Amino acid sequence: MKCDPSTYKNYLNKYHPHSREFHQAVAEVFQDVWELFEENRVYQNAQIMERLMEPDRIISFRVTWEDDSGKIHINRAFRVQYSNVLGAYKGGLRFHSGVNESILKFLGFEQCYKNALTGLPMGGAKGGSDFNPKEFSDREVMRFCQAFMTELYKYVGPDIDVPAGDMNVGTREIGYLYGQYLRITDRWEGVLTGKSPGFGGSCGRSEATGHGVVYFLKEALNAHDNGLSDKSVLVSGSGNVALYAAEKCIEEGAKVLTLSDSEGTLYFKSGLNLEQLEEIMQSKFVERKRLSECGQGEFFSEKKPWDIKDAHIALPCATQNEVNIEDAKSMISNKIIAIAEGANMPLTHEAQDAVLSKPIIYAPGKAANAGGVAVSGLERSQNATLESWSKEKVDDKLRTIMKEIHTRSIEHVEKEKGILPYRKGANIYGFKRLADTLLAYGIH
Ligand code: GLU
Repeated sequence: MKCDPSTYKNYLNKYHPHSREFHQAVAEVFQDVWELFEENRVYQNAQIMERLMEPDRIISFRVTWEDDSGKIHINRAFRVQYSNVLGAYKGGLRFHSGVNESILKFLGFEQCYKNALTGLPMGGAKGGSDFNPKEFSDREVMRFCQAFMTELYKYVGPDIDVPAGDMNVGTREIGYLYGQYLRITDRWEGVLTGKSPGFGGSCGRSEATGHGVVYFLKEALNAHDNGLSDKSVLVSGSGNVALYAAEKCIEEGAKVLTLSDSEGTLYFKSGLNLEQLEEIMQSKFVERKRLSECGQGEFFSEKKPWDIKDAHIALPCATQNEVNIEDAKSMISNKIIAIAEGANMPLTHEAQDAVLSKPIIYAPGKAANAGGVAVSGLERSQNATLESWSKEKVDDKLRTIMKEIHTRSIEHVEKEKGILPYRKGANIYGFKRLADTLLAYGIH
């Protein structure tokens, strides 16, 4: 393979045209590893770039289900089994009207690097459907999940592919999916993670991604002789990741100024407190309300959190590309000192470039939000040994894993203008592990 970035761009244009998000995720990683690749003839001769750009397989299937009025619906669904060289396929399922093949390829690609950083034996995958549970009744969601699993069960298994939740797939959806798997196969086994602790789930899985983001953030601030207590934090999103990240920030003595959803931003002038947060969790997770209906804080319609002044830290925890160049410029002019990504790829390419050109700590999702999949890994261990660990034990392990992910993210880099380049470090670490394993397997 000729050592020239246009080679991989041509490959993507030829084999993955119109996959905008996938191109974006690949370009980001390859930008950071290019120097290493250029110096390494063995990687070049082994066509490592092309092998890492092409998912192992993409399973696409139709989900047919009936709503409460008897109307039949058809949704498209996918499972992108990206790479299993580091372990059985592992990664979430996303149910959202915007789900398409490009988004799941980008998420599957990211998942390979993220899972490599956890140090646990897990490959990368992602799946989902353009079904939005928010638009349907509980019984309809159940029927959709049953129809979805009736197709998916053929391709998953505890040593093959172990899905979990992602956007709009929480404990309820995992319960319906697992129930259907059990009904079809009669095998009570760890085929899904994110289950309720009542039937094989791990304590602390729901909290893990959000808490893990804050554990990583603390490590990063510490590495720059700074700390989290008394800092003001902008959080976007109001799902699992956002709410548990907010919770941990408050517990660590920081002031959380915002939460958000697709309709706007909820602002807390003097900081959200734990009682208010508990009410919001009840409204969101149990009553399934919008943020504007939670009766807390001050709601600003159609506003994002990023131009709010006097904040030190930004935690984008909503979705991909939620932070555009204008948002990034607001953060820069408002003197944000650190950004840690709870969502996967929440900054556009231009926004990342703008942030990286400034002395801002930037913790990419594949490192900062890896706590979720790490605790999924712990759930697999518990299922395999028929154990059930305490919340304290899981939290202890999560803290250790986030510390180790921080160490791995800086193993191959040094401070540049006083700031550790986490994105580059995380990408190099993941790339090296994947590439060296592919070499060890021969022509695989
Ligand atoms: N969807 C989560 C992620 O983005 C978790 C995946 C898992 O637990 O398998 O990492």
